Amino acid sequence: MKTGARLPAWLTKPLANPAETRFVRETLRSHGLNTVCDEARCPNRADCFSRGTATFMILGDRCTRDCRFCAVSHAGPLPVDPAEPDEVASAATTLGLNFVVVTSVTRDDLPDGGAAQFAATIHAIKRADPSAGIEVLVPDFGGSTDAIETVLAAGPDVFGHNVETVERLYHAVRKDARYERSLEVLSRAAASTSGALVKSSIMLGLGETREEVRRVLVDLLAAGVEIIYMGQYLRPSAEHHPVARFVTPEEFDEFASECLSMGFRWASAGPFIRSSYRAHEAVEALGSRRPAFVDSVRGEERA
Ligand code: SF4
Repeated sequence: MKTGARLPAWLTKPLANPAETRFVRETLRSHGLNTVCDEARCPNRADCFSRGTATFMILGDRCTRDCRFCAVSHAGPLPVDPAEPDEVASAATTLGLNFVVVTSVTRDDLPDGGAAQFAATIHAIKRADPSAGIEVLVPDFGGSTDAIETVLAAGPDVFGHNVETVERLYHAVRKDARYERSLEVLSRAAASTSGALVKSSIMLGLGETREEVRRVLVDLLAAGVEIIYMGQYLRPSAEHHPVARFVTPEEFDEFASECLSMGFRWASAGPFIRSSYRAHEAVEALGSRRPAFVDSVRGEERA
């Protein structure tokens, strides 16, 4: 199938709820926050914003890497904002989120890769609403065990790190990342005692073969990943990696069934599946394993 071709019928989306979308946008703006929804030009914005949800993107809107599939700006990074964790928590409260998803740009310039800011954000969300579920989608932190442990020690319900594509395509679309390193990040999280559910996600349509996808799934299972999400890669602009093909909804259904029969505990696969899309559903189905939250500021233990 030609790249940049007209989108197939299954890639059309419903219109947004304007009032709810405006509310989400105003809340984000008033707190000075970025979302991966906007920065990555996610095709689900109308859907998610209409339901009052969004995925916060911390540590600025400039990524120190330059992946060929990603629309997030690649530029000199900004200083870390110490007020950001509380702003995220406050915005989540205003939006009434009972499940909060937080991701970040990659910050190879920071000694801890931004792990402390993730931890501070998790703590701030828990202080604001101890019952809120929290999912983090982290960069590879250069493989730093300390950084991974810093995030896990804060107690997210879900620790996510995306392999994004098959090993062969890393050089073409993720030149500063390494497939093995991403697997190590996931296996370290799975081996920890934090209780976090471990999740990963891949995009289809970048030029991978079905056999290569199966290999990734085998590797993710071996690393201890329990939750897998699979979606269609869509080219953010003509400057980005072309779409090799559009995967049909039926093929995605087959992948989801295959993932479950292989041993994943939760599989979401479909043209518009993104790792944060309806992310709460997996945790609701599987149940959170996170320990009670001890508020170090107030010295209280909460459910
Ligand atoms: S799928 Fe995720 S990134 Fe896309 S709009 Fe929804 S919450 Fe944002």
